[in-house]
Amino acid sequence: MDAQNRLLVILGAGESGVGAAILAQAKGWRVFVSDGANIKPSFQQELIEQRIAFESGSHDLSRILSADLIIKSPGIPETAAIMQAIRQKGIQVISEIEFGGYYSNAKHICITGSNGKTTTTMWCYHMLKKAGLNVGLAGNVGQSFAKQIATEAFDIYVLELSSFQLDDMYAFRADIAILTNITPDHLDRYDYQMDNYVRSKFRILQNQTAADHFIYNADDTTINSYLKGMPSNAQLAPFSLTTVQENGGYADQQQLYININKQQLTMSIHDLALKGKHNTQNALAAGIAARLVEIRTDSVRESLQDFTNVEHRMEFVAKVNGIEFINDSKATNINAAWFALESMDKPTVWIVGGVDKGNDYSELDELVSQKVKSIVCLGVDNQKIIEAFTGKVEVIVEAKTAHEAVAFAYQLANKEETVLLSPACASFDLFANYEDRGQQFKQAVRML
Ligand code: ADP
Repeated sequence: MDAQNRLLVILGAGESGVGAAILAQAKGWRVFVSDGANIKPSFQQELIEQRIAFESGSHDLSRILSADLIIKSPGIPETAAIMQAIRQKGIQVISEIEFGGYYSNAKHICITGSNGKTTTTMWCYHMLKKAGLNVGLAGNVGQSFAKQIATEAFDIYVLELSSFQLDDMYAFRADIAILTNITPDHLDRYDYQMDNYVRSKFRILQNQTAADHFIYNADDTTINSYLKGMPSNAQLAPFSLTTVQENGGYADQQQLYININKQQLTMSIHDLALKGKHNTQNALAAGIAARLVEIRTDSVRESLQDFTNVEHRMEFVAKVNGIEFINDSKATNINAAWFALESMDKPTVWIVGGVDKGNDYSELDELVSQKVKSIVCLGVDNQKIIEAFTGKVEVIVEAKTAHEAVAFAYQLANKEETVLLSPACASFDLFANYEDRGQQFKQAVRML
């Protein structure tokens, strides 16, 4: 893309916005960064050092509307006043990843889905890194993609993409696209239309050619039905927990198989670094991608065994008096909590609640009756949870702090049982974010 001294405005000065500014400046754009909230001091410092113009805590509308191109942070919704003004003026809006893509000659492995993005991304990155590839990590995790395009020379990137990023991507092409699953999430940003959300996820396929690959969850009915209407140009490499995949991966009888490039990788599911069916899916997706970039089967197998999980995802915290505590604070929707409960093999005290994004708790009925003995609600408004599960478990109590929740759970659990924080809800009624919720939970457990 030719900068020709044109004006690029960047909305939102977080990791992605500041990174985009650095790349844009290096490529000869005139750059102005605008953030309606206060910009973090470290990012302000970086902008000052780079001599990039910015404003913090306000939007200079006329300056923004004089832009030739706008890069928007994925956190800014279309309903924001500033976005409406920009749309009215018809200025082109893209995401930081799209912009980085204009200047990237690297190969891109892109991961999206409702759940499992970060785990799959990190696992895939681990495999490539361990195999000695010159690989970068970006998107929702790690450092800004655009900044790395400006300052690094990686041959390949593993990129975690949210639907919000995909919404502002047009020309970007994924050499390998991974779609982990699609279940309702973030519908507040999609006019409460599942169809809009699914189409947003499917944008990961746009621009793919017959030389590219699409790895997807063949057990996911939503993905299958949309693929019929929107066939992919890429070579398909599905994964499944129920059916054999000749060109892809599957699990059968506690054994995992990856069939790529006429070679088969097999290993026992018990040897996987992460437990639970959802992690078997993540392992298959990441493993297929690694095989598609021709990492040896032995090396992939080793990385499937020795990966360490990212914090707040089914993270083992401690065993106190025989009671195991697990932190799954990142489970912010029903599907994630479903997989967490599904993987429980001991009677469980379940800590659940927070800001509900339109949950239908009846989807968890069966698992709750099989696995959960008591519930500790951890939210401001717990009414829906109480109504959904009253009479289905022994006890339901309400807590208003992580400390209180852990204390209740510790009382309710016996030796050889599990306390699981897997809230199925967002965190911001009682906590700053899901990391804060997980940290406070872990701290409370360690103080028992
Ligand atoms: P994302 O980045 O998509 O939010 P994460 O890997 O951070 O996904 O995991 C988010 C939550 O979903 C965690 O609670 C985790 O245990 C659960 N999870 C991980 N992988 C999957 C999957 N493939 N399907 C369903 N839930 C999953």
